[in-house]
Amino acid sequence: MELHRIQNSFADAAERAYKAGYDGVELHGCHNYLISQFLNSRVNVRNDEYGENPALFALEIIREIRKRTPDSFIVGMRLGAFEPTLSDGIDHAKIFQAEGIDFLNISFGFMQLSDPFKPSDYPFTDLIYGAQEIRKQVLVPVFTVGEIISPEQADEILTATGIDIVDIGRGTLVNPNWANDARNGKDTGACIHCKICMWRINPEKCPGRIRYERNNK
Ligand code: SF4
Repeated sequence: MELHRIQNSFADAAERAYKAGYDGVELHGCHNYLISQFLNSRVNVRNDEYGENPALFALEIIREIRKRTPDSFIVGMRLGAFEPTLSDGIDHAKIFQAEGIDFLNISFGFMQLSDPFKPSDYPFTDLIYGAQEIRKQVLVPVFTVGEIISPEQADEILTATGIDIVDIGRGTLVNPNWANDARNGKDTGACIHCKICMWRINPEKCPGRIRYERNNK
């Protein structure tokens, strides 16, 4: 069955990472990727066991990785908060926690097939709201991400929400030493959120990086 071949490919990749000396892996369970296609009930219309239990595809991958790697090998999951609703995101988080996942890195984004939500007076993004609500429901470390551009903003989110870790994405494209610079009180630089991020095409033209390098000659 092709589905089992794909699950084995995930486990093969994790095993290779272990043998190469990595401490762990993060399975990508959101942003339209295959695991999230199973998890999102608006996409998964299968009428077999993988439709009846939308988490089964990922659970079997996790079990196979655990068979092939020692207990100390970290297995985390990037998980959608709204797949398709926050209530589903919380359910999925609990299911993966029960399976022994080591961390949950919360994001979301399934084209038009997710229902992002936050109360109107919530001070941060809907994504951070989703991660905060999931954090209240599980004991494993919860991370979040999304347009966090300064150490002060990161600190404010961590303090206010109880979320364990924030991921810095484009900030590290501007300055790969972002985290160390933040810890040492130095200028981290900042992504300026261009309409289209050109970094992957030509990092030399990244305006955030150009500004950072100019200010830190
Ligand atoms: S190209 Fe623009 S959006 Fe992309 S990392 Fe640089 S500053 Fe940020």
